[in-house]
Amino acid sequence: MNKPKRMLLENIAWAAETAESDPAFFGRLAQGQSPTVLWIGCSDSRVPAETITNSNPGNLFVHRNIANLFCAEDDNMMSVLEYAVCVLKVEDVIVCGHYGCGGVQASLSPTCTGLPHVDRRIGPLRSLAHAHCVELNALPAGEERINRLAELSVLEQVRALRRVPLVRDAERVPRVHGWIFGLRNGRIKVLSSGDPREAGEAAASTGHVATCAESECCPEAASL
Ligand SMILES: [Zn+2]
Repeated sequence: MNKPKRMLLENIAWAAETAESDPAFFGRLAQGQSPTVLWIGCSDSRVPAETITNSNPGNLFVHRNIANLFCAEDDNMMSVLEYAVCVLKVEDVIVCGHYGCGGVQASLSPTCTGLPHVDRRIGPLRSLAHAHCVELNALPAGEERINRLAELSVLEQVRALRRVPLVRDAERVPRVHGWIFGLRNGRIKVLSSGDPREAGEAAASTGHVATCAESECCPEAASL
């Protein structure tokens, strides 16, 4: 049986089981949504927002893209944010990255991926890697470097979200959190709580960044 056919059968089973365990479930679902959380995550199939947070349909308003990047010029991203903040009036916005992210890994590669849309998309990650290249280059190449850049990226997206007028000037300003998911243990690590004044976060997110000026230090910078 092909995968889509299997999925449709699983859907029939899920709908029946759900209706049996909670007869009012679909009635509530049909009445409308009032999620209190906007989730911005990676498209990676291993990081499904609802599953890893034990959430149900109706709990999370979700936007996912390659490497969980926030881009104020992206109407897809901005329309989701606008609806979440202005209409749903979510209380919390969560940016959740993950270790072992392929998009982050690609941004550390000196060559392009051969995928022009992906390359354009991860351009900001290449810039971020360059901005933090002294710290990143002090780490062993590979997993550690990729994972640290994934953390730095989450913090960068959090900062960008907090300062975008749609959030900053909202009637009800949501808390913006930065999380990262570990594929090896299924646990989420909090990088940035919803309170930007919290001790530790400022140092992690706005501390001095040593940036190299040498192109040989960051070969990938040559393509920036
Ligand atoms: Zn990813």
